[in-house]
This record gives sequence, C-alpha cells and structure tokens, in this order.
Amino acid sequence: MVRTHNLGFPRIGVARELKKSLEAYWRKEVDEDSLRDTGRALRQRHWRLQHDKGLDLLPVGDFSYYDQVLDMTTMLGAIPERFGWLTTGSPDAAELTWSPEVDIDLYFRMARGRAPSGAAVEACEMTKWFDTNYHFLVPELRHDQQFQLSSTRLFDELDEAQRQGVSTKPVLIGPLTWLWLGKVKGRDFDRLSLLERVLPVYQTILQRLKSRGVNWIQIDEPILVLDLPEAWRAAFKTTYASLAKADVNCLLATYFGALEDNLELVCDLPVAGIHLDAVRGGDEILAAAQLLSKAGSADGKILSAGIVDGRNVWRTDLDAALTRLYPLHALLGERLWLAPSCSLLHVPVDLEGELAMDAEVRGWLAFACQKIDEVVALGRALNAGVRTRDGRLGTEHRRPAGESGLAENPTLTALFAQARSARQSRDASTRVHRPEVGKRLAGVAEEHIQRHSAYAERARSQQARLKLPLFPTTTIGSFPQTPAIRGVRRQLKQGEIKPEVYVQAIKEEIAQCIREQEAVGLDVLVHGEAERNDMVEYFGELLDGFLFTANGWVQSYGSRCVKPPIIIGDVSRPTPMTVAWIRYAQSLTDKPVKGMLTGPVTILNWSFVRDDQPRSETCLQIALAIRDEVRDLEAAGINVIQIDEAALREGLPLRRRHWQAYLAWTVRAFRVAASGVRDDTQIHTHMCYSEFNDIIEAVAAMDADVITIESSRSDMRLLKAFEDFSYPSQIGPGVYDIHSPNVPSAAEIAARMDKAVALIAPQQLWINPDCGLKTRTWDEVKPALINLVGAAEQMRASYFKRGE
Ligand code: GLN
Ligand code: ZN
Repeated sequence: MVRTHNLGFPRIGVARELKKSLEAYWRKEVDEDSLRDTGRALRQRHWRLQHDKGLDLLPVGDFSYYDQVLDMTTMLGAIPERFGWLTTGSPDAAELTWSPEVDIDLYFRMARGRAPSGAAVEACEMTKWFDTNYHFLVPELRHDQQFQLSSTRLFDELDEAQRQGVSTKPVLIGPLTWLWLGKVKGRDFDRLSLLERVLPVYQTILQRLKSRGVNWIQIDEPILVLDLPEAWRAAFKTTYASLAKADVNCLLATYFGALEDNLELVCDLPVAGIHLDAVRGGDEILAAAQLLSKAGSADGKILSAGIVDGRNVWRTDLDAALTRLYPLHALLGERLWLAPSCSLLHVPVDLEGELAMDAEVRGWLAFACQKIDEVVALGRALNAGVRTRDGRLGTEHRRPAGESGLAENPTLTALFAQARSARQSRDASTRVHRPEVGKRLAGVAEEHIQRHSAYAERARSQQARLKLPLFPTTTIGSFPQTPAIRGVRRQLKQGEIKPEVYVQAIKEEIAQCIREQEAVGLDVLVHGEAERNDMVEYFGELLDGFLFTANGWVQSYGSRCVKPPIIIGDVSRPTPMTVAWIRYAQSLTDKPVKGMLTGPVTILNWSFVRDDQPRSETCLQIALAIRDEVRDLEAAGINVIQIDEAALREGLPLRRRHWQAYLAWTVRAFRVAASGVRDDTQIHTHMCYSEFNDIIEAVAAMDADVITIESSRSDMRLLKAFEDFSYPSQIGPGVYDIHSPNVPSAAEIAARMDKAVALIAPQQLWINPDCGLKTRTWDEVKPALINLVGAAEQMRASYFKRGE
C-alpha cells in the first residue's frame, strides 16, 4: 500500500488561537499553563483532523510556540551567552534521561528580546526561511559552542500524540541545515567544524525517540536544494552514516526546489527514505524513482513524492497528479509515499472558513485541510488501481481496461470530478482570462522599457525643475499609523462611517503630515500613506484580478500572520488608485510631493500567484497597471514618483544559476512600470535591505533616478557594494534606523553620511530614513527628522567649506 503523510501542519490555528494566546501571555494576561493549554488543544485538534482525513503518518514536533528553528536551537542547548543561561552538570550523550530544560521565557527572550520573566536582552536575529515569507530565528554559532540536549518538548509532544492514539512521525531540522542557517559570532571559523559536537545530541534524540516506539523520524534538510560547497555535500555522507547507527527509520525531507547535482548524493545516503518536492522539482522525482528502483542501489528506500503544492493555494489537478504518479508507482510499488511538497505552514489553514467567497472561485482553491484531502485521495486512487480520465493505467494495475476504479469509491470520484470541473471553470473563466489584458501584454515593446533619455540628461532636466539642494532630504513614504487612522479605517470597513467621512479624516491626516514635514524643513515631501494598511493589500484591493480571503492567515513569524492576496486572474487597473490623495497633498505645498506606489515585483512576491502562466507574465500585467498609475500621477502634476520594490531581492531563486533569468524579467517589469514618464519626472525606488553587492548591476539596470536603501542597521556596510561598482544615479542610504525607537542625533546622522561621502559623490547622495515611518510615533519621528535635516545642513556647510 502507498502511504500518505504530512511534513507539517500550520500551527497558528484557524482562528489564530495561538497568536491570541501568545500575545495575552506576553502581556501577562494569562499564565504559562493557559498558553500551554492552547498549544495542546491546537496540536490535538490538528492531529485529529489529519487522522480523520485519512493520513497514515502525522507530523509531531511541527508545532511551535514561535519558530521551529528556534525549537531546534533550544533542543541543542545552543543558547547565546547574553541570555545568562546556566546549566549544571556535564553533558553526557550516553545518558538518556538527564537534560537541563530551556524554560519558555528564555525561549521567548531569544525570540523577541523580552518575556514576562527575565531581563530584556537583544533578541536573536530573524531572517527569511529560504524563499518563503516565513522568518526564522538565526542560530548563533561560536567556535567554542557546546551542545547538550536541553529540551524535552519533542518527547512530551510525542507522548501526547501517542496518548491520543495517532500514528506519528517526529520532525526535526537536520544537523546540516541547522548549521548552515546559523551565523558565526565572535571569532570567525568554519561552522561545519561544529558538526562533530552537534551529532551526539542528534544521536541522543534519535535513540530517545526510538525508545518510545517511534518507527519513522522525518529529518528536514532543505539546504539540499541549494548550491552547496563540496565540503557540505561530503558532510551529508558522514552525518547520515553516523545517524544510521541509531537504527531507526529516517525520512530525509527536502523541499522548495530540485536537488539537481545533489540528487544522486541524496539517493545514496544511508537513510530509510527520502522526500522530494515533486512540484518545484519537476521530473526529478521520476529520476529519483529510477535510481532507487535500480538493482544494487535498491536498499529498499522509500520515496516520498511531494505531489501537492505546499507553497500555493490552488486546487491540485488530481488527474494530472495521478498521471505523474503512475510511473513512480510502477517502479516502486509500496515504497512510494505521498505528501504535500513541503510543510503546510506556508498556506492558510482551511477554506471552509471562507464563507463570503464566491463559490466558483472557492472551488479553485485548496488550503492546508483541502491539500491533505488531495494527498489522501491520490493515495487511495493509487491503491485502488484507479485510472485517470485519459485512460492510462499504471503497469502495476490489473484492473480490466474500460472499467474505472473510481466508480467504486464515491467520495474519491467526487473529489476527482470536482478537481476536474474546477480546472475547466478556471480555464474558461472570464475572471481569469481577459483578452484586452493579453493583447496589451503582447504589445509591450522596447519603447515601453526605456526612458526617453539616459540618466545624465534626465538628471539635468529634473534638477532644472526641482531645484533641490545638495544632499536633498526626504522620507520613504509612510508616517506614523496612529490609533486615530486605524480607527477610521476600521469604522469604514464595518460600515460605521460614510466614505465621505473617512475621506475627510484621511485628508486631515495628509494635511497634518504635510505641515509637519514643512515645519521640519524636508526637501521632498510625501503624503504619509494614511489610507494604506498594507503596501500590497492597498493596491491589490483596487486592481482587478486579485482575491482577498477573510481568514487566510499565514504565519510570518512568531505571533505575526499575514493574509496574502491571491492573484486569480489577469491584472488590470480599472481606475486610478492614488492620484486623488497625492494631488491633494501636492495642493497644500510648494515643495515637491513624491507619489508613492508599490512595484510589480513586490506585489507579486507578497501574493499567492496564479499557477497557470509564468510568474513573469503576471508580473508584467501588474507592471502595466502601475505604469498607468505613474503616468496619471505625472499628468496630475506630480514631479517625483517612488515605486517601492521592497521584495525584489527576497524573490531571488535559491540556485545562483537561475538568478540572471529572474533579475532579467523583474528588472524589465520595473522598467515597464517606471519608464512611461517625461525626462523631468524623477523616479525613485526603495529597497529595504542591505545585501546589495551580488545584485547591484541589476539594481542599476532598473534605471531609477534615485534609490533609497537600508543601511543604518548595518552601519553603512552596504556601501561596500558601491566601492567596486560605480553606481550611475542617486542614492539615499538610510541613515535613521526606523526599526528602533531611538532618536539619532544630527551628529550621528552626519557621521553616517560622512561614510557615504567617502565612497559616493556628494551630488549623488540623498539623506533619508532607512524605511517607512508607519510603525513609529510622532514623538519619535519629529525630533529624528529635525536632526536629519540638521545633518543635511551640516553636510552642505562642510562640503562647501571643503569644496570652494
Ligand atoms: N513606502 C513604504 C513605506 O514607507 C515602504 C515600505 C517598505 O519598504 N517596506 O511604508
Ligand atoms: Zn523599506
């Protein structure tokens, strides 16, 4: 029999129960027992649900109070010194019962710097989990790091699952992935050298799990889809040879991409099974099945096919999936397992909650619960020897031709039929395919990706019009989102106030924002984005082709969840989206007001994207919509327009050799959005990060007149990128760290600018914060901006003194 399993279930809860409980605990409104009750209830509910749906093996250890990488870190006892964690006794890998325990407040202090008990301390760094929008806490590695089993969490949860009587598979992050994701602190060293100290703890964990009667353990090693140095590849062999001694079945799970050059390595590892992402990995799953079925290498390994997309929300084409599974089944028989491609952490929990959603569109989608149904259905279909509609039978299937196995199982038949009609309805829907959008896309030509003149000439016309001083000052777009602003937005949504009242309230906010900026003396003003709750959602709601869920929450980090929009069809812009607000702001001042838009790549990367056409095509559709907005802003008399591309970098493919193609179509999309304006209209872009060196040429190719970037947190280190590459246009290195409540002094800001001046010509430099100010308060922002303007004056004065 083909077995079905799951790599991980979303833990936040369909009603975000975990979020609420966590935040109440942090506010000291509930105690630890109450928080743990919530956790237990969620785990039990999720096991019950997966079990009832018919999965054979359920994940344990996929639940987390904050982050699964942090769970692994605490399990290994890798607690940075500043958290003041002292353990007594000496680590002894052979001793299976003793272990010090990391308590929950220490855990939360590592995650967020504070907890109901214990002193506030600098939290661990957070970064994105591969190419998802989930953030994990980065392990800190010191050359003298010691490891010891320091958490019973996994064993406790296993006991819980066993008491519930479900059949389980504990989940761990593999030692190599854990080390790879870690960051060296203190003296520099090769983090791979810690492996021999980490492995004994893993061995202890495996033995302990085995002693509890566990049959299978899932070990996640997603780094196998990355470009790995040879030493790391070699380490996989020694690591898994060593873990094999524990004599328990390990399922090595990889996901988020193809294994490519690591495929043979993985197939040869001494593990009992491997899981591959059959969605992103394409035909590689077939190659793996062939390798595993070959005599000699056939050590009876299980191949788990991640056949249902764990990264997107579309209903699986079950016919197509089954057709792909036949040859695998023919090769491997019951050594084939089925699962979603990766943990379901990255999709919303349940479509059932979307009552308000149009029934047709709802039928196109599958969230975590529905994806499990799909995996189970595919397993049952294989086991029943069911044939798909195109009549092809797996060679193993003995069912007489002409007789459909589906008929014997009505629920199966229904699911396959629903999947089929969903596909047909999507294919034919006018909400998906709109000929006018396709026509426009086909008409995109060279002239649409090119400004009229080269940068130098544009800069001259822009300066003639804008007459900006040296070191012009500006901000990134948003100003504090006050409770008053959030209040009127909520009232509008709930129908408590009329749209006119809302518009009036926002206009007052804009006017206030303009007054404050004039008082501070900034050179290029913004309207403050009071009308936006989110930089992608705002545009998605105004564009055609987007769908919003009521409860489609996906964990971003800790208790933070986002509700990504779903791009269901061709994108277009029915009416202007920002023009009225910006025009109003501009009417209040003689200073230039910068129009503020979110770029096509960022809108794409922060949404669930349709899977029936290349992402590049969807991106170009969005770009054309933004282009129209840019031109309308220009026509409304706006001379400076910023197009944010906060998420361009995070969309980079996991493999280096796919970067160029990605950068080519993303840069092209940006240029389509930006290049429909006159020479004397100044285009800005903003990016929220500092790792620039490896994509700087693509960033320059976007051909923006001004780029503002993050840099204060990294103490202007990002400017190294500009050492070897002479960036053609203007740059605003962020010199005010808006992520902190601290107000920088003018001297600090000027000192940061001095570092910039050392590498970049003063005529190219702007002075600005490193991101939007929406999370700050006016009390913090006002003095900070006064100092920023003060720093600009100092810079100008000292420059003229030096220069003339
Ligand atoms: N214009 C946006 C703002 O200021 C940019 C946000 C971002 O880069 N994440 O809020
Ligand atoms: Zn930013």
